[in-house]
Amino acid sequence: MESYLNVNLDYIDKNIDNIRALKPNKLFCAVLKANAYGLGLVPIAQSIEGKVDYFAVARLEEAICLRKSGIKKPIMLLGYVAYNEVDECIKYDVDIPIYDLSYAKKINDNINNQVNVHIAIDSGHGRLGFRENQTDDILVLKNLHNLNIIGIFSHYSTADEPDSTFTNLQNERFQEILRNTSSEFNFKYIHIENSAGSINVKSQSNMIRVGLALYGLYPSVDMKNKVKLYQSFELKTHISFVKNVEKGIPISYGRTYVTEKNMKIATIPIGYADGFLRAFSNLGEVLIKGKLCKILGRVCMDQIMVDVTGLDVNIDDEVIIYSDIYKEANKVNTITYELLTDIGMRIPRVYIKNGKIIDIINYLGEIYEN
Ligand SMILES: *Cc1c(COP(=O)(O)O)cnc(C)c1O
Repeated sequence: MESYLNVNLDYIDKNIDNIRALKPNKLFCAVLKANAYGLGLVPIAQSIEGKVDYFAVARLEEAICLRKSGIKKPIMLLGYVAYNEVDECIKYDVDIPIYDLSYAKKINDNINNQVNVHIAIDSGHGRLGFRENQTDDILVLKNLHNLNIIGIFSHYSTADEPDSTFTNLQNERFQEILRNTSSEFNFKYIHIENSAGSINVKSQSNMIRVGLALYGLYPSVDMKNKVKLYQSFELKTHISFVKNVEKGIPISYGRTYVTEKNMKIATIPIGYADGFLRAFSNLGEVLIKGKLCKILGRVCMDQIMVDVTGLDVNIDDEVIIYSDIYKEANKVNTITYELLTDIGMRIPRVYIKNGKIIDIINYLGEIYEN
């Protein structure tokens, strides 16, 4: 394989253990949205099902995919569910969030069986949820008998930042809503912490929802001393071509880079169609034989060129992309989450457990074979 993404399932297990140790009395919800942040929904869910209590995904299709692959643990959706999807949520036993009263009423009237619901609270993230002055709306939900309200949750917006003032305010608002509503409901699941909140914040909840840290990345690098995480993925490829060129030779589209001297240049088969952002043009670096090599010129759809002057390299030598994913994300003004979820579908995922390859998923193969 020219390019592939190694996913070490043992590391994901260790990350769960280490994060659980921070919040030993809480349930653990593994956030597997966006194809498990690009690493692969089904293999990861199957590998960790015995170690976690809940799964969360963004889309109904993801939840159905989990059920069809044999996942039995509870699954909740974190975002919008269309009215005509609720019957499928019931059929596949998928919990839904509720954050608006008239939406809740319409769902309640549209279905004949009960759907499991987590009430979403907007304590300051500003995305989905009842706000702190909407307790009355929340209380009306208990009259909607097709809604089986089992949980209540909120979401932090700044738990990764060193200043915890706003996080504390969110926590306070969430607690206030709980005080005003919990006598009317029987909330089995109360949850607010994401990865950053699980690592950084004390909250009154009984479940944490962990995404990024599950895969071994820190929501911010200054959390490194708070918990040991093992980066569970490695994006690798191989050199496809090496050439020596003289000074003054333009490299890639638009001739935005011109060699400054005699140089050795390697071509590498990864590009923006693989999620390796075009913003890395003349900016990103890859690791070859332990040395960081600069990207020269523009990132193409399927290929890049890098500076290997002074290195003894050949076609087929290994290349590590994102050897420091935090640093590379910074260079293009984004976050590790985005680089990870952007990794393209045509890169096979290779799963390692107990030190051995146990599965390879090739999404492109699936597209072309059907
Ligand atoms: C994505 C998401 C999470 C997980 O966030 P991480 O920072 O990756 O841990 C938790 N809760 C909600 C509502 C989310 O959307």
